[in-house]
Amino acid sequence: MVYSSQMTESILIVEDELSLQETLAYNLKKEGYTVETVGDGRSALEAARRMKPDLIVLDIMLPEMDGFEVARILRKEMSAAILMLTARDDEIDRVVGLEVGADDYLTKPFSMRELMARVKAQIRRARLLREEMGQTITSEPKHEKLSFDNLVIDLTRREVILDNEPLALKPKEYELLLFLAEHRRQMLSREFILERVWGWDFIGDSRTVDVHVRWLRQKIEKDSANPTRIVTVRGGGYRFEG
Ligand code: CA
Repeated sequence: MVYSSQMTESILIVEDELSLQETLAYNLKKEGYTVETVGDGRSALEAARRMKPDLIVLDIMLPEMDGFEVARILRKEMSAAILMLTARDDEIDRVVGLEVGADDYLTKPFSMRELMARVKAQIRRARLLREEMGQTITSEPKHEKLSFDNLVIDLTRREVILDNEPLALKPKEYELLLFLAEHRRQMLSREFILERVWGWDFIGDSRTVDVHVRWLRQKIEKDSANPTRIVTVRGGGYRFEG
């Protein structure tokens, strides 16, 4: 009765190393999550589409299809959080760039304690997002917008409009832009941005912020080499000018 009101979060583990797969599954089940495991990229797609997990723990080097490809495909289809497991430094650059749409990553080898912290952070964020979306639907249809000339952030639709055309932004790009816009004309350090947009328990580095700022500039600046909207502040940070 008690637990019927609370939904169990589900996690899909994609890992071809069987001992690690089993260890992950064991520990996550112990925490009360519903867990499924698969060992290759194609099965990952099938399983994710079927179970619609809240979180996907996704290894990169996989048989059939690698984790980058899996993340790229699933990112377009569902809102599951993606925590990538990387084994090599050259993978980290791609993951940190988050061109694949991962929400966080862990470098092998990692401790179960580290993994649990990341999993919980992602699950918590997913839950908050769900709650926020629920509130949006049930509340009055008020349209909250932030407008800066030809750039409009529609908070209700989580959409950004530039010159009357919707921009295709990744979730983190949107969150970053919104955060900058809500602190217009304030100097924000990379660390502060990282903490507030990615969460205090995201163990990335400030390159993550730089990469996302670069992408945002490419999308919202007239000339991304000479930005006038998101300007770099000497001494380590960014400021949104509007
Ligand atoms: Ca592997």
